[in-house]
Amino acid sequence: MNARGTGGNAAARTKATSRAHSAGAGASQSAMREHNLGLVLEQIVDAAEPVSRADLAVGTGLTRATVSALVDLLVSARMVDELEPVARRTAGRPAVPLVPARGTIVGIGLEANVDYLGACAIDLAGNVLAEEVVEDDFRHSAPAEVLPVLGGLGKRVVAAATGQGARVAGACLALPGIVDRVSGPLRLAPNLGWADDDLSALRTVAPFDTIGVRVANEANLAAVAEIRAQHAARPSFLYVSGEVGIGGALVDGGVVFKGAHGWSGELGHVTVDPNGPDCTCGAEGCLETYAGKDSLMAAAGLARDLPVEALIEAARRGDTRALEALARGGRALGIALSSFMNLTDINEVVLGGIYSPLTDLLVDHIRHELDRRVLTAPWVDMNVKASVSGTRAAMSGAALSVLRLVVASPGAWGALEAESWSEPEGIPAPDAAAPPAWQGAAAHRSTAQEEHA
Ligand SMILES: [Zn+2]
Repeated sequence: MNARGTGGNAAARTKATSRAHSAGAGASQSAMREHNLGLVLEQIVDAAEPVSRADLAVGTGLTRATVSALVDLLVSARMVDELEPVARRTAGRPAVPLVPARGTIVGIGLEANVDYLGACAIDLAGNVLAEEVVEDDFRHSAPAEVLPVLGGLGKRVVAAATGQGARVAGACLALPGIVDRVSGPLRLAPNLGWADDDLSALRTVAPFDTIGVRVANEANLAAVAEIRAQHAARPSFLYVSGEVGIGGALVDGGVVFKGAHGWSGELGHVTVDPNGPDCTCGAEGCLETYAGKDSLMAAAGLARDLPVEALIEAARRGDTRALEALARGGRALGIALSSFMNLTDINEVVLGGIYSPLTDLLVDHIRHELDRRVLTAPWVDMNVKASVSGTRAAMSGAALSVLRLVVASPGAWGALEAESWSEPEGIPAPDAAAPPAWQGAAAHRSTAQEEHA
């Protein structure tokens, strides 16, 4: 289920040789080199283990000589590091293991959610160079007040990363809602109470007045982090992001499904019972009214601003209301997920956000409904498991989604002009007046839903 056909994702990317033919005889030498650079860098970044030039030649279909030349460019551009050579079992020169460079180039992830704001800087190797989080209650907050605070966190993270010698490739903002772009309008973030608001207040804070900022749905971005954390080959799963709201992201073959507008994944507003409780969206009986964090806490008789650990503790000591709240929430999740599974034939569910630590307490209730309602249940193993991408996955995924753009188009970020990397400015921030570098051919290869500033 790939929204943009075979060209729309990294996983479906064809081998370089056939891609060159499809590009036609008019494809310029530099465009082909740019494409092949991306192909090589992607394989190095996505590999679970360090790869050699020989591995890359096999994986890309390029010749050893071409791969070597491209790797040299990526090493010069400080996108790839060479480790100490390791002796081969067979005859020949020792292989040089290649890994994504540490600390040289970072994506900035930003997140505004109902109970926290956060910013982080992550490098190509996946290391977090800096992170800032502020926990508070941001329900019914004003974006014009909250976004400058978030910008301040981002500013400190950028300063920390650049202070360690890293260059900033761009930023991405994760929001729990439906968003067009940073310059507005924000369509709807019901739990923040944001609707038809302008997000440009973020761009009043330096350095976000010059750094490109994109925006995407938090569940889709959390799924990007989960794909990376799983290190599985082209995984397919539904990522369920449990917070006050509930987001969903459909990952098919390692690619996040975007929908026509990038608005897919509003799992929290799937109807569980048309006669159910009122929802913040204006409808009744949405999944969120049973299984959102506020609903779970209320049903358990706990204050909504307590951490989810309070619910876990109550359930572990056998508190009846807590156990009933989890049973009710788990049943509702199972009902909603069974519709999803009947529709898509994807039978793996990854529970993220607050559901990750609650998985053991929810999974039997979810599975009970799946067994009853999914038509194919007798023949497939319906796998419901906790996410491995950790807390704040959307914020991490936001930073990683920026880095995907670098990986897709290393030349646009300096790999074809390695000499320029010695200059202190590093990667030029995309000019606000001009289309960002990633808006061209590279944009279709990114793995998260995005809009541009
Ligand atoms: Zn709703």
